Amino acid sequence: MNECQQQSVQCPYCGELIELSIDFSAPNQSYIEDCSVCCHPINIAVDIDFDQQVHLQVTHENE
Ligand SMILES: [Zn+2]
Repeated sequence: MNECQQQSVQCPYCGELIELSIDFSAPNQSYIEDCSVCCHPINIAVDIDFDQQVHLQVTHENE
């Protein structure tokens, strides 16, 4: 079982695709990661299903 998985998400600021490493050991997490392209802080919410389906939500910091 892999503990970490790469996922691509679209930056809500600049629209570029950025790679995230999702940590599967925590089923629900939210954190802020700076976009590697435009450096804006992105709110990232991660939800992992019982069958390892990943649901990602990315929002502006102030939403
Ligand atoms: Zn960006």
